[in-house]
Amino acid sequence: MGKKGFVLCVCQGTCPSFTKMDIFAVLSDIRREKLFDYVCLHPQLCVEDGDEFIKVLLSGGETEKLYVAGCDPRMQGKMFRDAFESIGFDKEKHVALDIRNKTTEEAVAAIKKMVEENP
Ligand code: SF4
Repeated sequence: MGKKGFVLCVCQGTCPSFTKMDIFAVLSDIRREKLFDYVCLHPQLCVEDGDEFIKVLLSGGETEKLYVAGCDPRMQGKMFRDAFESIGFDKEKHVALDIRNKTTEEAVAAIKKMVEENP
């Protein structure tokens, strides 16, 4: 059974859209709930080393589904497409969530809902 991975991407942590939540509390809460096989934080996935991160993370083939909470899902799809394609990761296995402008509690609730709807 492939693993479910979760990445929280936070626009370097300086964007006003991410100031209402405590990003470490969000990650701790979802770890406690064991929603995913692994969780991690990335400051900016949509730049070159973000592409590299995605490629390295997924190239082993162990991740069956990658959940990314960050900006608009359509934007995520466009920004990560090349990285997914280059390592043969099916883009349908990327589940994207817009998590901007949420409090810690709202973010955790939205992440739980995302997993329920996309098991
Ligand atoms: S992928 Fe989205 S959330 Fe992450 S840094 Fe880029 S714009 Fe921000």
